[in-house]
Amino acid sequence: MEKEVIMEISHLKKYFPVQSSIRMQPASVKAIDDVSLTVYRNETLSLVGESGCGKSTTGRCAIGLLPSTEGCITYNGRDITHLKGKQQRALSREMQMIFQDPYSSLNPRMTVGAILEESMAIHHTGSREQRMKRAMEMFLKVGMREDQYYRYPHEFSGGQKQRIGIARALMLNPKLVVCDEPVSALDVSIQSQILNLLSRMKEEGNITYLFISHNMSVVRYISDRVGVMYLGHLVELASTQELYTHPLHPYTMALLSAVPEVDPHFKKEKIKLKGDIPSPLNPPSGCVFHNRCPYATTFCGDAVPTMQEASAGHFVACFRHEEY
Ligand code: SF4
Repeated sequence: MEKEVIMEISHLKKYFPVQSSIRMQPASVKAIDDVSLTVYRNETLSLVGESGCGKSTTGRCAIGLLPSTEGCITYNGRDITHLKGKQQRALSREMQMIFQDPYSSLNPRMTVGAILEESMAIHHTGSREQRMKRAMEMFLKVGMREDQYYRYPHEFSGGQKQRIGIARALMLNPKLVVCDEPVSALDVSIQSQILNLLSRMKEEGNITYLFISHNMSVVRYISDRVGVMYLGHLVELASTQELYTHPLHPYTMALLSAVPEVDPHFKKEKIKLKGDIPSPLNPPSGCVFHNRCPYATTFCGDAVPTMQEASAGHFVACFRHEEY
């Protein structure tokens, strides 16, 4: 069956202007540099990579929380790249975000019930009674109790706060939700509960997730497809099964080699990358990974590899992926 596209991101760039400290010259941090991505309806597409690789910025640009510098974003075939004001607000009903930090994403001065109702009030949706009815319905759906509705955020644990964050994001029946590291601030024992809740809510609400994480195990558990980002570039994209069993980009291989094994007797070779991740203020020429790549040649420092389809649905940006 043909998959339906919900969002198309084409050649997206996001540069943040900064003042260079050396000569006080204007410069820019290249947070995203030419990222193209197709998101299919009802899938969970994850973006992984180290801190600063541009995955969160991509998610924020995708739903209009950050303006993009260049490129085009379409949602259900409509160009939404430069929407502002009323149009942007109307669209934000369909596109929501679940934040990383459940501790600071909830207003401490409001009861959790009022926080949930507020998302409908902002969009002038429903009467007071209808808002409260919907908020209570969502509150119970995410596993909270009725008697907790009038409590304040500080009275809840991290996992409960994240449940409330999920309920708030889903109040308006969104069709696309960006989950920005939704479990990384939680205890490991709570993470699986929240991941299961996200999966259940996705099935019930026909939601598409753009899931952002640095945790390869979490991503493997929840995703249909995975995109790997490095220094503002998308370097590999494939189905979860394909990416974890046949990684093609040396950076993906290094990320996977660092995932701890459950079986202590199983020894796998760790790929140690040399050096640190370069500054996005002054990224390397050619392939941005060339100064850390164990397979780099001089050519890699001169030319920029583009995403090529190595096998059906498996894309990689590397000149030498067929050689190793
Ligand atoms: Fe490594 Fe060259 Fe491939 Fe870049 S293009 S990942 S430097 S082999």
